[in-house]
Amino acid sequence: MQAIESLPVPHLFHLPENCIYLDGNSLGLLPVETQKLLDDTIKNEWGNRAIRSWNETWYEYSEKLTEKLAPIVGAHPEDLLFCDNVSSNLYKLLHACLKGVKGRSTVLSDDLNFPSDLYVLQGVLSELDSGMTVKLVSSSDNIHIPTEKFVEQIDADTALVYLTQVAFKSGFMHDMRAITEAAHRHGAMVLWDLSHSVGVVPIDLESTNVDMAVGCTYKYLNGGPGAPSFMYINKRLQDRLHCPVQGWFGSLNPFEFQLDYKPAQGIGRFKTGTPPILSMKAIEKGLDIINSVGIKQIRDQSMRLTTLFIEKVQTELTSLGFEVASPLDPNQRGSHVSLKHPEALMINQTLIYPSDGSTAIIPDFRAPDNIRFGFAPLYNSMEEVEMTVEQLKRIVTQKLHMRAQMPEQKVT
Ligand SMILES: *Cc1c(COP(=O)(O)O)cnc(C)c1O
Repeated sequence: MQAIESLPVPHLFHLPENCIYLDGNSLGLLPVETQKLLDDTIKNEWGNRAIRSWNETWYEYSEKLTEKLAPIVGAHPEDLLFCDNVSSNLYKLLHACLKGVKGRSTVLSDDLNFPSDLYVLQGVLSELDSGMTVKLVSSSDNIHIPTEKFVEQIDADTALVYLTQVAFKSGFMHDMRAITEAAHRHGAMVLWDLSHSVGVVPIDLESTNVDMAVGCTYKYLNGGPGAPSFMYINKRLQDRLHCPVQGWFGSLNPFEFQLDYKPAQGIGRFKTGTPPILSMKAIEKGLDIINSVGIKQIRDQSMRLTTLFIEKVQTELTSLGFEVASPLDPNQRGSHVSLKHPEALMINQTLIYPSDGSTAIIPDFRAPDNIRFGFAPLYNSMEEVEMTVEQLKRIVTQKLHMRAQMPEQKVT
């Protein structure tokens, strides 16, 4: 693919009709090339080549993808792996790194973290039954936590620092380098969740000397619903960590069918069973787009979008009851912005389902009073930012949201 000179590049995606799509931080849009690749995979690789495709392309497909992910996260391909979902990979890594730890009894995280990440941790700690506890650093404003305040909680009792780089609700971005260095100074490990930052924020796992990381592929990487997650393990640790799910794909020689498990060398031991090839194939073309633009250009455009949005909200919407619930400093936030409003749920509903046939605007709602606007620099434009602010203003001044119908929804 040729280098792309300027953003956005909406023609590379299937854009939902009559819609401004601001939910790329939850489910990225479908790249046009992905549909073609999946059509071909289904027709030719599955349909025609069938089982022969395992040797022809499928068996080492994760390795092909890691080549393309590597520049996006600043890692070597052989330290990356695609498999399972984020929660399952967190389980495997947490179990692997906490089992057998002696003389350290806390895992340090924060209360901005994604609940699933904390649930998995709670489960692992109760399973290991080693007396280790979770310590959550809390945010005083539900938006951010100053790096100094977090770092001063790390001490000789900390086994692991366990954080999400960009918070799912407020969009606050931790200082990965400073926190990783502080953890290492105290002899603790770090495990970073990159789900809300990968693809929009420059990440340099290798030079930051991160121990372990996971990330999601269906958000800013545009890999499609339920696309497998990726993990990173620093070379230093790969042969010391033991995967608790000892599946055949993570064993030394799966097709020798030995009855006793021996782990594969390197990160491959964290594979479990047969990879979901169709979902993995849906990741490739999105990575190509990001690599052809370059993460720096993406980050610059992301900052322009979120900055314009915040400026417009401050000048046009604060008198209407809206409040910015994200960091105002662009260096401290990812690519989404949360707004608080007492009637957020009804306003969100009116944006998505306008009753007067105007353009639908799709952000998402996070209880109790947050609307999250995800700005995907690959396909969102500055004009869409302005139209969104106009529509918010129109809804509240004309009280259109007071008439919103509230369908029951499981996914918000
Ligand atoms: C999206 C996201 C996940 C998703 O987890 P799955 O197990 O893949 O559903 C996990 N953690 C964070 C921080 C996320 O943003």
